[in-house]
Amino acid sequence: MEVLDASAFIHGYETADQTASIPAVQAELTGEHAFRFDAEQGAGMRVHVPDADAVDRVRDAAGDTGDDGTLSDTDRRLVAAALELDATLVTDDYAVQNVADRLGVDCQVIAQDGITERRDWQFQCAGCGRTFDDDRDRCPVCGSGLSRKNPN
Ligand SMILES: [Zn+2]
Repeated sequence: MEVLDASAFIHGYETADQTASIPAVQAELTGEHAFRFDAEQGAGMRVHVPDADAVDRVRDAAGDTGDDGTLSDTDRRLVAAALELDATLVTDDYAVQNVADRLGVDCQVIAQDGITERRDWQFQCAGCGRTFDDDRDRCPVCGSGLSRKNPN
């Protein structure tokens, strides 16, 4: 199982594993990112409320590593959820990874290891039909507008 932090929804992280997240992450997301959370939940993602005891263990561990000042309540609850569910925590937050490591919770880094799992959008020119990997206002070849295209 993988526990997803807010950046997983922001980056469109995808995995074949069973997923879980927490209500505090849902509360932080807006727009299409919130929609992704709802879609994941509809597809079977577990929304877990970590126990206060587990959150206290995370706070203690963060005190040991010196990271408690940089962790948000949401961060502590995410690590606590991964601890309780014996799951891998998906996050690109270094302080969160550090505390998770202290507690023996595995982490998956989105920006590095997770990059192959991301859906990479392409942008297609309405005029000449060329596709580009990055979003631009105008096609650099013919000057027409670009629109987003799902490569799958
Ligand atoms: Zn063009």
